[in-house]
Amino acid sequence: MELKEIGEFGFIERFAPDFKALLSGKVLGIGDDCAILPMNETSDLLVTTDMLIEDVHFLRDKIRPWQLGYKSVAVNLSDIAAMGGTPLGTFLSIAVPPGVDVEYLDEFMKGYHDISEKYATPLYGGDTTKSVKHLAINVCAIGKCPKGKVKLRRNAQSGDLICVTGNLGDSAGGLQTMLKKMDPSADVEYLLQRHNLPEPCIKEGQILLGFSGVHAMMDISDGIASDLMHILKASKKAARIDLENLPLSEPLKRICATQNWSPDELAVGGGEDYELVFTVAPEQLHELQKEFKWQFGKTVYPIGKIEEGKPAIEWYKNGQKVVFSKAGFNHFQE
Ligand SMILES: [Mg+2]
Repeated sequence: MELKEIGEFGFIERFAPDFKALLSGKVLGIGDDCAILPMNETSDLLVTTDMLIEDVHFLRDKIRPWQLGYKSVAVNLSDIAAMGGTPLGTFLSIAVPPGVDVEYLDEFMKGYHDISEKYATPLYGGDTTKSVKHLAINVCAIGKCPKGKVKLRRNAQSGDLICVTGNLGDSAGGLQTMLKKMDPSADVEYLLQRHNLPEPCIKEGQILLGFSGVHAMMDISDGIASDLMHILKASKKAARIDLENLPLSEPLKRICATQNWSPDELAVGGGEDYELVFTVAPEQLHELQKEFKWQFGKTVYPIGKIEEGKPAIEWYKNGQKVVFSKAGFNHFQE
């Protein structure tokens, strides 16, 4: 059987229960953005790892080595942010093919260093090896969070509002402009920047951690359509999303209008935005929006609601039901 027949998560489900049986009671293993291990009286340790493979996750001639180094750390710190944690450091393993020279690696490590400095996350160690053809990068990040306070995927409650911390679809839009080799413009540059240099929502996650009404949280790496399903499956809940409420940037809207792309499809299916998606009790939304406005000069965006039911997402556009598939959105047909 080919892996593609069951997918990444089908593969994980085949072995995860056997490993869960090996865990002590106080450890959270496979199944959330980070593993959680007891650290001391007040804090838990967070551990996560993420891999970037050439031609799968990036095209070497389309991203500068400095950006790739920065992004390799950013996508890992995003998983620490998803738990409301504080990042502590990283490990880097890298497999280098012929043609990637020392000057390239120096630039890569400069980007890696710049984000490490920004978030005070030293590189603690790792491994370097050769690769036959592709550049492969694996980062493991560790962090900490107050004991017992993390927002797990499994705690979404019926009636919770589903919110995101920022614009969706920019990264996917940036990828499209790259693949279509679009001429540079301010809008194209903005989207490329969002694709090549995501910023982990560390501070946002920490603030969300302080709100008791925030029940479930994760980061958006694969797109809402896929990521929200993890929350729904873990919480055994359903969801309704109102597409007209998705926050979209002006550059994305303008490029989509000129290219005849669907911003909804990019926002929902594209991924790599590295914003946070979370569920919150409706009565705390206003307070949370006020706090975000004060801290960041931006708001959080309610895009839908958690409901009772089997894990599934119902999509609505201006009150009308639509279906989302690999081919995009279609009007729902009974
Ligand atoms: Mg994640």
